[in-house]
Order: sequence, then structure tokens, then C-alpha cells
Amino acid sequence: MRQSGTDTAERSLREGIIDTCLRMNREGINQGTSGNVSARWRDGMLITPSGIAYERLLPEDMVFINARGKHNPGQRPSSEWRFHLAILRSRPEIAAVVHTHSLHATALAICGMEIPALHYMIAAAGGPNIRCAPYATFGTDALSRNVVEALQDRSACLLANHGVVVTGPGLERALWLAGEVETLAHQYILSLGLGGPRLLPDVEIDRVVRKMRHYGPR
Ligand code: 13P
Ligand code: ZN
Repeated sequence: MRQSGTDTAERSLREGIIDTCLRMNREGINQGTSGNVSARWRDGMLITPSGIAYERLLPEDMVFINARGKHNPGQRPSSEWRFHLAILRSRPEIAAVVHTHSLHATALAICGMEIPALHYMIAAAGGPNIRCAPYATFGTDALSRNVVEALQDRSACLLANHGVVVTGPGLERALWLAGEVETLAHQYILSLGLGGPRLLPDVEIDRVVRKMRHYGPR
């Protein structure tokens, strides 16, 4: 039987989510079954299932959750589906969300630290800092609220004592930014050990944000 265009698009999005998960672990910005990935689909999203090794994922394992948070009761979506859906609902320009526990970014988040303007690449996340959302238990509405607030005018934030959330207009861009945020965190930690970074002023970051609008994968 021939597949419709919608079936093909959905299948390739499901495959794209799995590919993103495999790459985030292969690229060393996540480990084990930590982290999760979603992409906007119809009035809701497709998201990774909870706690399954990424190597074992099949396209049909991705869970569709509609705008009201409902899904097929036979499937178990990522425990973090609430913040993924809250981001996609409140930010129409975002079509993909990647959550990782990347090492250096998480180390800063454990200390409740945000990433300041230590390098011009911070502009890729939308402004002069990458905020750290206050701690709330994983999977809760409280965590969703904290994440949406920390992401205001930004495409990435840290989660206190937990990890990182990165967003983008597509999976490729979000994964790329997840790697950039981890690099910035690593650079920040190294520079703190060398006496502390010399930060760039906000006006310079504004200039770079405008200059970088078309930089990086789309
Ligand atoms: P899930 O396997 O339920 O997606 O949880 C991983 C995680 O990182 C929770 O914060
Ligand atoms: Zn997590």
C-alpha cells in the first residue's frame, strides 16, 4: 500500500527524533537513557518514550501527545513531556526541544550558576546569558513553569541540579545548539580556573545576535 505524504512526513520525523538521540549520546553530550527529544507534530508533539535505551528505539515507539496533553494510554512518554509541551505551546517559533544531562553544563547547573557572556557564541542562544531555571522535581508542572520562564527570549537554559534544555526551529539546529551550550559551559569552567572570564558587554552580544540570525544549521 502506498503511504500518504503525511505518513511519510510523520515517519521521517519519528526517525529524526531517534537519530537526534543517538547523535547526542555519540557526540558525548548525554549519557545512557538520560535526556529526551521532541518535535512539533500536528496540534501537539512527538516525543521519546521514557527510560528506553536509544539504540533500541523504533519509529513507532515515539509517543504522540496532543495539545491537551493526551496520548495513547498504551504508551509511556518521556517523564519530561510536560515541559516539552509547555515550550512548544508557548513558543510558536520553536519546533524541536532537546534535553540532555551534558557534563559541564550540568556541573554549572548543580552550582545554580548561569552561563554569562564569556564568548560571542552565547549569542546563538539568543542573548547575553543562559539562565539556570530553579530546581523542581523532574516531570512536574513546577519544572515546566521554571523552564518556560528561564527560556524567555532565549533558546536554551540550564536546569538546576539536573541538566540543560535546548530548543530550535528543527531537530538539527537544537542538537547543534546543545553541543554549543556544552562547549560554552566547559569554556566557562576552564576560565574560572584561570582567574575568571572577561565578559563581553550586552551591546556586543546584541550585535552578534543580529549577525548570527542566519548562522548554524536550520
Ligand atoms: P525519560 O527517560 O523519562 O525521558 O527521563 C530522562 C530524563 O532526563 C528526566 O529528566
Ligand atoms: Zn533529565
